[in-house]
Amino acid sequence: MLKVRTRYAPSPTGFMHIGNLRTALYEYLIAKSNNGDFILRIEDTDRERIVLGAVDVIYKTLKTVGLKYDEGPDIGGEYGPYVQSERKILYNQMAEQLVKEGKAYYCFCTKERLEKLHSKKNEMGETFGGYDRHCRNLPPEEVKKLLTAKTPYVIRQKVPTEGFTMFEDAVYGTITVKNSEIEDQILIKTDGYPTYNFANVVDDNAMQITHVVRGSEYLSSTPKYNLLYEAFGWKKPTYVHLPLIVGKNLDGTVSKLSKRHGATGFEDLVHLGYLPKAIINYIALLGWSPKDNKEIFSLEELVKAFSIDRICKSPAVFDYDKLNWFNSEYIKALPIKDFVELAMPYFKSVIKKTLNWNKLAEILQKRVVTLNQIPEMVAFFSQVPDYDKEIFINKKSKTTLESSKLVLDVAINDLSKLIEWSYNSIHDCLISLAEKMRFKNGTVMWPVRIAISGKSVTPGGAIEILEILGKAESLRRIKLGLEKLS
Ligand code: GLU
Repeated sequence: MLKVRTRYAPSPTGFMHIGNLRTALYEYLIAKSNNGDFILRIEDTDRERIVLGAVDVIYKTLKTVGLKYDEGPDIGGEYGPYVQSERKILYNQMAEQLVKEGKAYYCFCTKERLEKLHSKKNEMGETFGGYDRHCRNLPPEEVKKLLTAKTPYVIRQKVPTEGFTMFEDAVYGTITVKNSEIEDQILIKTDGYPTYNFANVVDDNAMQITHVVRGSEYLSSTPKYNLLYEAFGWKKPTYVHLPLIVGKNLDGTVSKLSKRHGATGFEDLVHLGYLPKAIINYIALLGWSPKDNKEIFSLEELVKAFSIDRICKSPAVFDYDKLNWFNSEYIKALPIKDFVELAMPYFKSVIKKTLNWNKLAEILQKRVVTLNQIPEMVAFFSQVPDYDKEIFINKKSKTTLESSKLVLDVAINDLSKLIEWSYNSIHDCLISLAEKMRFKNGTVMWPVRIAISGKSVTPGGAIEILEILGKAESLRRIKLGLEKLS
């Protein structure tokens, strides 16, 4: 049996859209679940769309998420080079071969002629907007003359005008298209570079790719690829087209996932505080479902569980709430040391002094959904925000402005007597204070927490916050709270 080989073939046109990352992930999973090879190939033949630095984003992203490729531009391999612009000669040779065999031809039509043709077809309401095959049967002497005169040309494939092209997709099943609906596609452009359609077929064959995995937007071009495999007499790969990823619109409908739905780039999501492992886990389920209802998968577990036959056709909805759930699960599962490391830049962005970072991380870890929430959650450790004294009043805790004042007055006194400042000693002190004053615990904890944080919602309770703030700062804040109530 042939060794399974898949390729991720991004064009370096900018940031890494999560749709692209999902394609890369599925290619990796298909290769690795079959002990195959996963290859990275950079498709940079569309010279106008190239964005500087985009290749580095691709390397960096694949590395960050652990999609280790076996062959690629930066690591080499038996089938290199792995950048299409470095393979230009090959495409030209292959196109010339088809010309020689009478399966392709030089087309000298100018842009103006093609534009005119297009608008004329539009006017006449013709449904087939393709090229009219004007140069398909030019006499050889004329072709020679035009070539000698260095007239710009493209090379087009002679597509059969009759019959059907049929192909099998592993996800979408059998697809049949009338050849009369396929135009004589361009293989080599006037700038000498191949079209994407041509280069990807030449390379997939040359690199012995067995499974071509890509977004379903390429489904309609696949008959063209098939016609090329047929013209060359090459073995076709298994096509695996992936369902569209859509986002929910405000009116309840869905449409192709785009910026208006929220962040759609991997880097953007990381920037917002999503963990790469959570993102990968979530996008694995955008178009594929495991046999059981398991949701949390490491990359290794995905390799074990993945199979092409469980990829579905219907569009996958990118649900930010679900991604949030995954992220908080991954954050909770982190060893505390790792969480401290991740949270530290966020802590330090708002807290300029040194605190017991471990303790702070412990109270946050259970509550954080995305890392970028951290600054807002912890800023009060740096400084008590300006707050309205009305928040001392709380029905559930049975607190009033008066009860709060009484409590803070005694608390400042009792807490100042503590020699050891630990969770347990603070706890015992406040509990006995409640007993002594015949108040419920909540009636004591609420005003203390408000005074030391200035907020009605905080990560962690009064005791945990007091412990982290330290004795001097805690007493100073309670005193300020008391002054507010006086
Ligand atoms: N270069 C194409 C893209 O970035 C790749 C499509 C394919 O996988 O063949 O979308």
